[in-house]
Amino acid sequence: MGVNKELYERYKAMKAAKLAAEGNNNTSVSGFKALSAAQASAAAHSTSQVQTQAQQPIIQNNNLNNNSYSNIETNSGLQQSTSVESYSYSSSAAYQPDDEVRENYSSQFTGMSETPQTINTYTPEPEKYTGNVNTTYETNIPSTYKFALIGCPLDHSLSEYIHLAGFQSLGIKATYELIETPPEKLVDTVKYLKTGGYSGFNVTIPLKLPITMFLDEVDPSANTVNAINTVLINPQTKFLKGYNTDVAGFSKAIPQDIDLCGKTAGVLGTGGAARAAIAALAMRRVKSIKLYTRNVSNTLELLNYLRKTYPQIEFNSFPIERIRDLSDIDMLVNATPIGMSSFGAGYTPVEEQELRTLPPHALVYDVIYNPKKTLFIKLAQKYHYRTVTGMDMLVHQAVEAQKIWTGRTPDFKDMKIAALENI
Ligand code: NAP
Repeated sequence: MGVNKELYERYKAMKAAKLAAEGNNNTSVSGFKALSAAQASAAAHSTSQVQTQAQQPIIQNNNLNNNSYSNIETNSGLQQSTSVESYSYSSSAAYQPDDEVRENYSSQFTGMSETPQTINTYTPEPEKYTGNVNTTYETNIPSTYKFALIGCPLDHSLSEYIHLAGFQSLGIKATYELIETPPEKLVDTVKYLKTGGYSGFNVTIPLKLPITMFLDEVDPSANTVNAINTVLINPQTKFLKGYNTDVAGFSKAIPQDIDLCGKTAGVLGTGGAARAAIAALAMRRVKSIKLYTRNVSNTLELLNYLRKTYPQIEFNSFPIERIRDLSDIDMLVNATPIGMSSFGAGYTPVEEQELRTLPPHALVYDVIYNPKKTLFIKLAQKYHYRTVTGMDMLVHQAVEAQKIWTGRTPDFKDMKIAALENI
């Protein structure tokens, strides 16, 4: 069984268990009692974004970093005693595309022959570029690079603004289209992207897992998260390689002076963002991770996987509604949708009374980026805790995507300003 299929099967099993538990879970939960699981899940979906045949970034530069995930982290100065590959449960051997899997996926849907609709396209004017243009281009590189975001719905996505600002900072002429793609259109959209001269694309809800069936290779960065959010298209072979940049995005947003080695982290939620946080915290060599969830028994499979994958870390799960004392937590992460502007903006996943039991040095991190400051973050700041917001993670994951596509590092500040101006 190839890496992609394994990833897909594992995800399907976890999702089924999660859905079953959500259906049976009537427990009221502290801080977000009024929110149903269905509402919360819908909200997460509405605003969440989303090697052996080595693929090269599309733009060659003499100062290129190796764009493997472990090297990205090492280049940023993080101390790592173990490589990312040693954490991953599956090998990074080349994946042979599995026609059977693709056909099964396709056969679930009908009427897939339409050309995907681009809902928004913007081509920046070349003369406006101010970034570094001293780049050595491959001879077959087009004058304008084409990138896209696929998923559904995409109406509120900030990706277009963030990525165009990044390309502009690099002096790269590029388009970034939003291609609204419900699952039944995924087959056509992938074909369109492969034949339409695209260099890469981002993937968001609900395609972060289904896209794996169309990939020729999966980067180890996607293993723990079980989701792909960035794809690189090889310009010559049209091979697709998938990555997850949320892990690096999460890690890069942590202030540089914070050393998490040997520390205890608390993670609220067990979904995609939570798993990205866990993978990043493992790379930062935390000693222990406490998962806070609505249904502890539902996390057993995840706990088994995490204990096997990261044997040096102690993992435990606790009911989120019973949080009382957080005095042993050095970093608390909200990876639930509680507090998002689309619905529970006035809610917090941890009540004020419990939040203030954190030790004074604790770091409080919310992966939510809209609103810019959630109630959770406001409460943490009220008690003078250091905080990190989801906006930094969002922009950092986009920076990582551009590093994969171009081999160069775009300007974080320009990209963050573009995001803040358009939120
Ligand atoms: P997800 O896969 O649906 O996971 C959300 C998790 O939150 C669930 O697994 C659940 O964990 C918990 N949860 C959901 N509803 C809840 C409720 N009513 N009460 C308590 N817990 C609840 O979603 P996701 O993709 O991880 O996204 C989560 C949030 O992160 C969203 O707001 C999204 O926009 C944000 N996000 C931000 C970035 C960024 O770059 N800043 C990236 C990705 C996601 P349990 O089932 O264990 O309780």
